[in-house]
Amino acid sequence: MPINDPTTATPSEIDEELARLDIEHAKANDTFNRLTARAQGLVNDGMAEYTTELRSRIEQARQTIAECETAARPLEAEFERRGGWTRAWLVLNTGGHVHRTTACRTCFPSTRFAWLTQLSGHDEAEIVEQAGKAACTECYPSAPVDVRNRPSRIKTPEQLAREAEKAERAKAKAAKAITAPDGTPLRTKQYGQIETEFTARRSYIEALSYARLLTKRNVAFHRNAIAEYHEDAQLILAALAAKHSRTVDDLRAELAPKVEAKWNREHSNWG
Ligand SMILES: [Zn+2]
Repeated sequence: MPINDPTTATPSEIDEELARLDIEHAKANDTFNRLTARAQGLVNDGMAEYTTELRSRIEQARQTIAECETAARPLEAEFERRGGWTRAWLVLNTGGHVHRTTACRTCFPSTRFAWLTQLSGHDEAEIVEQAGKAACTECYPSAPVDVRNRPSRIKTPEQLAREAEKAERAKAKAAKAITAPDGTPLRTKQYGQIETEFTARRSYIEALSYARLLTKRNVAFHRNAIAEYHEDAQLILAALAAKHSRTVDDLRAELAPKVEAKWNREHSNWG
């Protein structure tokens, strides 16, 4: 997310944006180099007239590079202004270590890192605590031995984002779901197991309207079915009431017009 005022942003917010700009910059740089080489190849082969479209894409990449650099400048300046803050990087290998700088002498120019921006500005002790045995001994020489023996709890920003997304999906699913008041599956006689609130409401409306039709047709003949529909409706009502911390009467009143509408629209003229 672009940062309007760096002076009020947290180190994590600033570094997260810098990391995003870094990636965009690297991509654009890659594109620039690739397309430039291709255009040069065409020129060398005497086909300069085919480079027009390439030229505009090269120009676009060049602009993106410039924009990334311009956007990063005030953020880098803020880092300097505050006298810097702690940063941490995780090497992207199995068993990769956490480092305080990508310039750590145990790393190589080709080493791939994930910038752990969520830890920017955090106490080094806390970073080491989370890193456990993944803490680089060169970068964090003072890490206590007992901490060094613990497994790493470090996650990359991508992993954290995925976990947050998963939790969000679970929350959305829970918001749509329905269970019996005691949390067990909502099982009905006529509609089987009901999973969602949407189905619960629809089934309730249908159950009462249809029970009314059966009553009209032949109450004695349909006695059992009518009883089951009424029973189901009560179960659903109790589940809805429990989910929303409302009373059964309240929900019955809310749904009554819908039952009536269903009856008028469908069942009343089935005869
Ligand atoms: Zn290191």
